[in-house]
Amino acid sequence: MSLCEEYFPTKAYVNAEKKLGLLLSKERDRLDSVALGLGRKYAIGPDNLVEQIPSIVGFVEEYHKAYSLYLDAVLPQHKRGIQCGPSCGNCCHHYPMSVEPFELIYLYKLLRTRDDFMSVMEACQIRATLFESLLGKRLLSAGSEDEAEDAALHDYFSRWRPCPFSSSKGDCGIYPLRPVSCRMYFSETSPKFCVPEYLQTEQNESFVVYMPDHIEEALYGISEHYEGLSLPESFFGGLLSMNLYEGVLQ
Ligand code: SF4
Ligand code: SF4
Repeated sequence: MSLCEEYFPTKAYVNAEKKLGLLLSKERDRLDSVALGLGRKYAIGPDNLVEQIPSIVGFVEEYHKAYSLYLDAVLPQHKRGIQCGPSCGNCCHHYPMSVEPFELIYLYKLLRTRDDFMSVMEACQIRATLFESLLGKRLLSAGSEDEAEDAALHDYFSRWRPCPFSSSKGDCGIYPLRPVSCRMYFSETSPKFCVPEYLQTEQNESFVVYMPDHIEEALYGISEHYEGLSLPESFFGGLLSMNLYEGVLQ
């Protein structure tokens, strides 16, 4: 897998980058102001989660729209073409990480009203337990925590467990709601190479569309404001942790 390259500053790119940057800066400033009003370092905690949810939902919807515009501007710059399409869920066997706390809140709020909520939570629990066990084994021998995590993520992918939201055909069952960690992953090569055997080979040209550094910094600033909730950044572990706040969400 390769990381994103530098993109040409086309008009579409400049507009999309500006929109995304402004949106994230505005939300970071809003949360700075909430924290200031509360006289603490972070804005969102169990005490004010419910009252903040409408603002969080509104922000996440705008963030996902703005990131889509950004993708529209950068993906055409990949001259080999993007091979991703419907029913193409090999990559949905990874253990998604780096999911932002506000995206977990947004998704959890919608999931908890669904009939299959309990079975989704059970499926998340099974996957989170498997990953923690793989990580525990790797921590015994790895040189660092990062090395252990990378190895455990690879081990997890090799176990070939589909995401609880992936259908048997490989479609995402929560496509409009999925986090940016899912939205940012693409491949320039055939889906048949998006499998564990080819993950770290030249045949696999998958890549991640990161945002420019100043936007990533604003994103980091926003996420720091959720430290009062102590949500892990893993997708399945994060959704499970949201269960702790069922009491305040009633
Ligand atoms: S990354 Fe690979 S498996 Fe995932 S949608 Fe793209 S081509 Fe399909
Ligand atoms: S949420 Fe959707 S896109 Fe993300 S891993 Fe699950 S099925 Fe795939």
